Amino acid sequence: MATVSAAPTPQTSDRAPEPFTDGYHLAVDALLRNDIRTMYGVVGIPITDLARLAQASGIRYIGFRHESDAGHAAAAAGFLTGRPGVCLTVSGPGFLNGLVALANATTNCFPVVQISGSSERGIIDLRRGDYEEIDQLAAARPLVKAAYRVDRAEDIGRGLARAIRTAVSGRPGGVYLDIPAAVLGEVVEAEKGAASLPRVVDPAPRQLPQPGAVDRAIELLAGAERPLVVLGKGAAYARADKRIREFIERTGLPFLPMSMAKGLLPDDHPQSVATARSLALRRADVVMLIGARLNWLLGHGEAPQWNPDVRFVQVDIDPVELDGNRPIDAPLVGDAASVMDVLTERTAPGRITVPKAWRAELAARSAQNVAKMTERIEAAGKAHPMKFLGALRAVRDVLHDHPGAYVVNEGANALDFARNVLDMRVPRHRLDSGTWGIMGIGMGYAIAAAVETGEPVVAVEGDSAFGFSGMEMETACRYGLPVVTVVLNNSGVYRGDDVSTTADPAPTALRAQYHLMMPAFGGVGYRATTPAEVDRALREALASGKPALIDCVIDPTDGTESGHLTNLNPKGVADIARPTS
Ligand code: ADP
Repeated sequence: MATVSAAPTPQTSDRAPEPFTDGYHLAVDALLRNDIRTMYGVVGIPITDLARLAQASGIRYIGFRHESDAGHAAAAAGFLTGRPGVCLTVSGPGFLNGLVALANATTNCFPVVQISGSSERGIIDLRRGDYEEIDQLAAARPLVKAAYRVDRAEDIGRGLARAIRTAVSGRPGGVYLDIPAAVLGEVVEAEKGAASLPRVVDPAPRQLPQPGAVDRAIELLAGAERPLVVLGKGAAYARADKRIREFIERTGLPFLPMSMAKGLLPDDHPQSVATARSLALRRADVVMLIGARLNWLLGHGEAPQWNPDVRFVQVDIDPVELDGNRPIDAPLVGDAASVMDVLTERTAPGRITVPKAWRAELAARSAQNVAKMTERIEAAGKAHPMKFLGALRAVRDVLHDHPGAYVVNEGANALDFARNVLDMRVPRHRLDSGTWGIMGIGMGYAIAAAVETGEPVVAVEGDSAFGFSGMEMETACRYGLPVVTVVLNNSGVYRGDDVSTTADPAPTALRAQYHLMMPAFGGVGYRATTPAEVDRALREALASGKPALIDCVIDPTDGTESGHLTNLNPKGVADIARPTS
């Protein structure tokens, strides 16, 4: 590096400040000024020196193998900390790889800033064919919450401040910050540079609801015969844990957590109706959504999944979300923490009650479903070859002894089964495929959970899902992170018993012994063919605190086409042979 920053950083030496600085130093100083202490990325032209300088200046840089994984890691960091995760990418294709994760984060309402280097503007804009030529700002814009470009080094601080506030305020989301190579290398007077770096004050201010709106919601809930609360990941993100629990316990309202809201109240809480989900949705007459959207994951709030006459209270930070699928009778716009404060304060004791008949109806269905599920899990535990449920029973039992462990979960059947079997007891400890229902988030989320919290992480992965980011186990090993990946390996996408009509494998077929990759990375690999072996391996891996992978050999005939989403496959007229469960 040719120049030295005069802006104060934790690493500032006693040397007299140099009169000049540059874009690299200003970017790092701007990050430090805003307390960004971790960055995820993949280096290359033109940002390698930016990563080096960040690391040397006290920012922890986690270097990945693929930008999407780094982006997913930054997104998970945003969800887990409530502060923007930062992802650093190279220009062109590296930027595009990262953009997938940034768009996914935006869809999930996670705060992230993707900082990317970019090529020569004058050449790109005339389409003259530059190295990695893409108009990155234009490409990012439609897919993210906001996109900004810095065209002068003196604007780096301003650009980052804008990106941070945009990412975390209101509905959180992904922000793209484009810093062309020329701006990183631009030399400016150190004093002027130092003066150009703002610190964002109160980046996500509280948003309180109107008292009248709160009273309207209370009245609706008080008049309900079959009330229900649905908790979404927006409620988890809002860190309103105590207030939500207090409100639910005071009123006695039954609640249903969406997958990433599991643990906000413990899954074994007596008011949880997760085990009577279908009945609760079909019969409830007033539903309070807290940080949950009526999107496809909730059947758009429509019959037959829902009671057609259901009325909604919706707590959301984004007013634009309301009325999108169903009319909202009592909108409560604000951050969930503030809304729940006011709601709890204004609800007189005994004002909201839950009729006995509704409680009894839910309890009866819940008992019935729990008995059925217990029987299925017990039977699966004895089956050989091992079933999904057999392996997951073992994982569940080990996790009961490690309540602080984070759970990452993706796949089709691996996601559906694990969501039901692995109960959560602590808020924000489950990260999964999310709003798009995608695969590829696994190792990025797992690595970020370990980096941000220092706690052990158990990633429960379908074999197909794992393939998208599996190489990042090397990243986990390189940084010595306590990530244990459990691959539920039934040798295929959905299932492993599809038969090909040609000499090539079937489109859904996969073949690998995933544990064999671990020694190459310096980690530990296990192969488990019975639930007892899963139990032993997982306990040992967690006790070691080191990265490990357990390849669980699952019966290739276990699993359903598309998991619970079989109905989303269009049905044509052609006769196509598929395996059935
Ligand atoms: P889930 O998939 O768990 O149902 P969604 O991602 O569909 O959850 O919904 C999350 C909702 O939470 C979004 O509509 C978002 O605007 C909202 N949200 C995000 N942060 C907050 C917050 N702090 N307070 C209230 N709502 C929030």
